[in-house]
Amino acid sequence: MRESWHERFAETPGVLKSSDRHQTIVPVLDLEIGGEDFITMAGPCSVETEFQLMATANHVRRCGARILRGGAFKPRSSPYAFQGHGLEGLKMLARARAESGLAIVTEVMSEDDVTMVAEYADILQIGTRNMENFSLLEAAARSGRPVLLKRGMMATVADLLRSAQMILDCGNPNVILCERGIRTFETATRNTFDVGAIVLLKEISHLPVVADPSHAAGHRDLVPSLARVAVAAGADGLLVEVHPNPDKAWSDGEQSLDFAGFDEMMASLDPYLALRGLAISEPAGVRPMEAVG
Ligand code: PEP
Ligand code: MN
Repeated sequence: MRESWHERFAETPGVLKSSDRHQTIVPVLDLEIGGEDFITMAGPCSVETEFQLMATANHVRRCGARILRGGAFKPRSSPYAFQGHGLEGLKMLARARAESGLAIVTEVMSEDDVTMVAEYADILQIGTRNMENFSLLEAAARSGRPVLLKRGMMATVADLLRSAQMILDCGNPNVILCERGIRTFETATRNTFDVGAIVLLKEISHLPVVADPSHAAGHRDLVPSLARVAVAAGADGLLVEVHPNPDKAWSDGEQSLDFAGFDEMMASLDPYLALRGLAISEPAGVRPMEAVG
């Protein structure tokens, strides 16, 4: 690593690569994020119904996803929009994990909810709007669960690394960085996918980096291309929104892939993964789900 990056990010030495720390591997059930396997986290934006969640879990698992995403607590622009099922949604996620063997990543929005969410989730997601909510970060860190830290939509790479450093300083080494697009003058896409940030983070930081092409694009037809770009840029995994019927989704339907779209996207990653000597790992020892969905 060039010395100048060390100087540039001198405020956050703990997240930078060093001679004795090149790559953090975050263990999640039987998975290793940041290791040899490319890890896809897929599922609906919001947990809506048992059927929606189970059908999606069943499908994405068969296509190579290893982690199920889905929000039980949703940060919405309008107070009148669906805010998530809360505890009921967490219970649905836990049932989906039991049925599918997939690990669960779900957002926690309030420090008051951290203990409850940590009981059900394998990874706590910190959303873009909360990247600098330091009391939430501290509570999430102290839960002991791995933390998926999404980049604030107005945050620089240095800001993101500062928040990651806070979590490490609270004694939790298991931080996964997530590039999900930032706000720029461009409005055609929902956000601007900062692929340069993925390359830079992989260059300077030992923390795993995943990409969320769904929130970056805002339009489902752009998601597979951005996913391939993320693989080429060196991301350790993806966070992707998938829904059985995106046009009827309660949130973020425009950017959600349907099942066929997800299959196609996953298949299209192969040559890009092969260039890095990676493959999408097959789930090992996971129970079949014939009874589900
Ligand atoms: C989400 O993952 O559904 C989400 C709300 O993401 P972000 O915080 O990046 O907007
Ligand atoms: Mn969403």
